[in-house]
Amino acid sequence: MRHDVVVIGAGVQGCAVALRLAQAGKDVLVLERSIPGAEASSAAGGILSPGVEAVEPGPFYALCRASLARYPALARELEALAELPVGFRGGGTLEVALDDDHARLLAGRAERLLRHGMPAEVLDGDAVHRLEPGVSPEARGALFFPDEASVDPRLLSRALYLAAHAAGARFRTGQVLRVVHDGGRAVAVEHEAGRLDADAVVLAAGAWSGLVDGSGLPRGAVRPVRGQIALLDTRPRLLSRVVFSDKGYVVPRADGRVLCGSTMEEVGFEKAVTAGGLHGVLSLAIEIAPGLASAPVLETWSNFRPASPDGWPVLGPSAVPGLFYATGHTRNGILLTPITADAVAAAVLGQPPPIDLSPFTAGRLVARRDS
Ligand SMILES: Cc1cc2nc3c(=O)[nH]c(=O)nc-3n(C[C@H](O)[C@H](O)[C@H](O)COP(=O)(O)OP(=O)(O)OC[C@H]3O[C@@H](n4cnc5c(N)ncnc54)[C@H](O)[C@@H]3O)c2cc1C
Repeated sequence: MRHDVVVIGAGVQGCAVALRLAQAGKDVLVLERSIPGAEASSAAGGILSPGVEAVEPGPFYALCRASLARYPALARELEALAELPVGFRGGGTLEVALDDDHARLLAGRAERLLRHGMPAEVLDGDAVHRLEPGVSPEARGALFFPDEASVDPRLLSRALYLAAHAAGARFRTGQVLRVVHDGGRAVAVEHEAGRLDADAVVLAAGAWSGLVDGSGLPRGAVRPVRGQIALLDTRPRLLSRVVFSDKGYVVPRADGRVLCGSTMEEVGFEKAVTAGGLHGVLSLAIEIAPGLASAPVLETWSNFRPASPDGWPVLGPSAVPGLFYATGHTRNGILLTPITADAVAAAVLGQPPPIDLSPFTAGRLVARRDS
């Protein structure tokens, strides 16, 4: 059977692109070897922070800002379509300096950010404690990004799946083995249940994207980088917004749970929570907010960021007609979901993308290696 579009992978990227294409009237089939959203997408912290992640102006910062700007509307849309909240919380994000070295670094960053008109405020220690009384008394000061936010990635993953399904996208379980090329274009995928023909194929297989034969991705374009998370319970709530230090972060949810993250580990696909990893994330969380030391540990987990060499995603048309990418989102796949959905769907539909995608081609990664 022939489909307009086959999407490989049902994480947030695959589901969000499928949602937009189904809404545009396309016959969309999403192929997922496991449970939709079960990998990186539901393991993430859910921080939406261009200011901390993108650091300086340029195409990546612009992409992050364009995606953040779409979040409130996407959250409302998903809550209506899926009849499920996604845990979107505004209130800004804080990057606190807990020692003099980090305070000096932050002061330098603040100067650059403000010079470029990026939305950030410099807070002294007293202002930090007025905003977040649970933060360590050691805090010397902070950068505050007032329009940043967070979302609950487990709820988001589920809502995107439900919304794509409600819009008409179909889902099928099973592994995709390869993208089939014929006459220089992508024409089908070979699924464990057989060949599925399609006018367009979207590769959204997260950290596993490079393992799909015929992906056309340069070697090393997407690799797994493991992250470990510990989930704590605070009652009453200790924190109300995301707080970064120079080593990690804490992400409070509305119900008082706090995610502590995360490691960046090059260990292939070894999905483990380790003593050293937990020690690291818990120590830095307690350093940020000492009250967390008495919080019960509810859960721990790890998963794999789909990491590209420069940390930027790989988006839009590939060098092979009919094959499109929505992968390589590294540490910012939750933040970048709304713009990925709109931009990749536009590319598949042959419409102008909402943002210039040329900095995000897979081709840039070949050029990097040769240079
Ligand atoms: C610990 C951790 C913390 C993070 N924190 C944040 C954060 O705070 N903010 C943020 O913006 N981002 C964060 N991220 C990054 C974010 O989670 C990812 O960038 C994003 O989820 C990637 O989405 P995806 O859909 O590409 O990948 P995934 O969610 O991994 O989905 C890919 C899907 O493809 C399926 N698949 C793979 N191969 C095949 C195949 N051959 N056939 C069929 N199906 C296949 C997989 O089973 C999987 O379901 C974090 C990641 C981790 C690990």
